Amino acid sequence: MALVFVTRRIPEVGIKMLEEAGHEVDVSSKDGVLTPDELKGALQQKPYEALVSLLTDTIDEGVLVCCPSLKICANYAVGFNNINLEATKSANIQVTNTPDVLTDTVAEFAVASVLALAKRIPEADKFTKALKYEGWAPELLLGSDLKGKTLGILGCGRIGVGVAERLAKGFGMKVAYYDIQRSEYLETSVGAVYYDTAEAVLEIADVVSLHVPLLDSTRHLINADRLKKMKKGALLVNTSRGPVIDEQALFEALRSGVIGGAALDVFENEPAIVTGLEKLDNVILTPHIASATHETRNKMSEMVANNVLVCLRGEIPPNLVK
Ligand code: NAD
Repeated sequence: MALVFVTRRIPEVGIKMLEEAGHEVDVSSKDGVLTPDELKGALQQKPYEALVSLLTDTIDEGVLVCCPSLKICANYAVGFNNINLEATKSANIQVTNTPDVLTDTVAEFAVASVLALAKRIPEADKFTKALKYEGWAPELLLGSDLKGKTLGILGCGRIGVGVAERLAKGFGMKVAYYDIQRSEYLETSVGAVYYDTAEAVLEIADVVSLHVPLLDSTRHLINADRLKKMKKGALLVNTSRGPVIDEQALFEALRSGVIGGAALDVFENEPAIVTGLEKLDNVILTPHIASATHETRNKMSEMVANNVLVCLRGEIPPNLVK
């Protein structure tokens, strides 16, 4: 029997798996993100061997010293930029994530964001609900078509490929992409064209979708200079991580018409949003829900539990982050 701490309520299925295996599971009773001090305090209560963390928890050396018995930090997310991997490595703690199970869900959400932006659906909904609709008009709320346009993907891993395939096969878009490694699969499956810089993709794309992890090399990948390289009228979708975009620069670009519109599911200083962004009609804002479906959140819960169970048996967990 081992002690497991979960920093916030997650779908029950994973908790049950841990309990049925005989482990004692403590789930934080706070309906919100634990502050660093609350997290440290909680971890000092008992000799926990496993921690289930969320992307909103910062796991650093200061947290880890509070719990010397810890063997695994199982992150309930595919991204793991909230965990200091040097600190976990020197404390000999395994780190796992939840890849694959959310790929289709996030790809669907990114596609939904592209469609909503191109067809101006949130604007039209707001307009109609405000009872401003006075009858069909030839130039009312004109959007853009996707067929034959170029989709630019920055970061062509699991989710980037999923978005590219859906928009190419389902909507007839051409695909241009940039990544630090080529995706032969995508080049074959939809004829995607590889460019060796982000700028080259930004210059030709009508719609840009971001799917890189948050790393030093991707922080502010989209900044004022790169926004200026984009086509006037281009649409930008971010379902990766907020700091991949310089949000203030994006706000200026959207306000002054440098680009056409943006859909953001993630923010640079989440949950805060750059002031004024919420007032722009050419922006769609969603509260980090790209993976938020019943099916996927259950699968993520099972996956973190499985990683913990395998680690506690003394074996290598399947989703080890290296
Ligand atoms: P992945 O690891 O399969 O793909 C990431 C791709 O980015 C890889 O192909 C990698 O080579 C590329 N890359 C890395 N550094 C790069 C750089 N400097 N320049 C260009 N490309 C670079 O990851 P994934 O499963 O596709 O997920 C991508 C990201 O999406 C995650 O890291 C996570 O942050 C984010 N995400 C967000 C949500 C959400 O709720 N909004 C949900 C899931 C994932």
